[in-house]
Amino acid sequence: MQIIESIGEARSIIKRLKNQNKTIGFVPTMGALHEGHLSLIKKSKKENDNTIVSIFVNPLQFGPNEDFKKYPRTLEIDTKLAKEAGADIVFTPSADEIITDNPLTYVDINELSDNLCGAKRPGHFRGVCTIVSKLFNIIMPDSAYFGKKDIQQFYIIKKMTNDLNFDIRIVPCPIIREKDGLAMSSRNNYLTVKERNDALILSKALKKGVKLFESKETFSEIIIKELKEFIKTVKNADIDYVKIVDENMKNVKIINRGNILALAVYIGKTRLIDNHIFGEKVCF
Ligand code: AMP
Repeated sequence: MQIIESIGEARSIIKRLKNQNKTIGFVPTMGALHEGHLSLIKKSKKENDNTIVSIFVNPLQFGPNEDFKKYPRTLEIDTKLAKEAGADIVFTPSADEIITDNPLTYVDINELSDNLCGAKRPGHFRGVCTIVSKLFNIIMPDSAYFGKKDIQQFYIIKKMTNDLNFDIRIVPCPIIREKDGLAMSSRNNYLTVKERNDALILSKALKKGVKLFESKETFSEIIIKELKEFIKTVKNADIDYVKIVDENMKNVKIINRGNILALAVYIGKTRLIDNHIFGEKVCF
């Protein structure tokens, strides 16, 4: 497995692969890799001749009071894990390499970013779309793999890819969870033992939401109210949002299969997100 830091080197290797008609699968990450990321790498490995994993903590997607500085950076372990999962190349550019001097161009997406995390983290998806577009232009993959853990991000990237005519297949991958239901996340590293236990309230709330829906409750307002009360039973939990939306990230009144129950909850100082698509298999 090769570790590459420069755009020039990445481009020349990719050119060679393309000349050999090799397919390229791409897994963009911010590192601190866990089984969730590794599942994306393994899927890409199965479906492509070559798999490229990027590790880049994207400064553009963090707000001024967010955790950019303390975000876990574990490059040595990450490269080992990526290799074991089947990556052929890890692309790990510095911020200076990716972000040009005095950039005046950004990729922004309307509407899909107005709700959920987009509403709570202004500029977040502009940062994501700008950097993912740059990475797409450098890597030029055939397929790119995104986790449904970040469900709004998945729909945004899919739409952006279509709107900007990137010739890339965007592949959704299931949420990987710990045995007790907690969705894997690099931010779980921040949690104390007590908070780790409190964090189970997210997946438990999703489970409760699914049960209510299966018992024929279809009014989103009623489910949201019940779930908010349920989450509030954990003293350490501070709700950022509990919403039920369609694929366009619009709130729905009456729930249908395919609608998404999405949560963002602070456990102590750590903001965690999780979601479930109604009608999909429950794995928590
Ligand atoms: P991140 O490093 O947090 O930017 O995530 C990189 C990719 O891994 C994104 O497509 C995420 O949706 C995906 N991912 C993160 N956590 C999980 C998880 N628990 N299950 C599946 N995919 C995940």
